[in-house]
Amino acid sequence: MRVALLTGSNAPDRETILQRTAALLVERIGRLVAHSAICTSSAWGFRSERDFANQALLLETELEPEQVLDEALAVEQIVGRDREAESRERELTGERYASRVVDVDIILCEDRVISTPRLRVPHPLMHEREFVLRPLCEIMAAERHPLLGRTIEELYNALKTNAQKI
Ligand code: ADP
Ligand code: MG
Repeated sequence: MRVALLTGSNAPDRETILQRTAALLVERIGRLVAHSAICTSSAWGFRSERDFANQALLLETELEPEQVLDEALAVEQIVGRDREAESRERELTGERYASRVVDVDIILCEDRVISTPRLRVPHPLMHEREFVLRPLCEIMAAERHPLLGRTIEELYNALKTNAQKI
């Protein structure tokens, strides 16, 4: 199975962190088929002084999606995600999102649709987020969203068009 992951960080050394994260994900999940550039964008969903960096990775894996999630969460841990610090920051700022050292999300697992308490694939917000679609478009523009039936490129263009109307 081919799994598309999105990594993100807004730590000061985010580029190094994303490179280390990608290396660990490949080691634990499977061979790297394609990767996007490391793309930067302003923080989404909360106010932050630092920009985010995101990268899309396409991996070939023997693992089941739930196992991919376990490995992704383990890599977040190794690279230094501190969920307690995040929840302290959220309490302090009252925002829904906080700065994080690293976030690894599963975006797509080919045409599989998964909805369990732990895992939702396709990622439910992927088509609304520029920072997901832009890097994803670099590596799989022609892939179809299994629920929306539109390609990544079409979703990305639709999002950009809507953004211009606002
Ligand atoms: P977010 O990525 O939404 O900012 P977190 O990284 O803190 O939030 O993830 C919280 C939980 O989301 C994870 O522990 C995981 O069980 C769940 N989750 C559900 N669907 C996915 C997915 N597609 N990719 C990654 N995590 C997911
Ligand atoms: Mg996450």
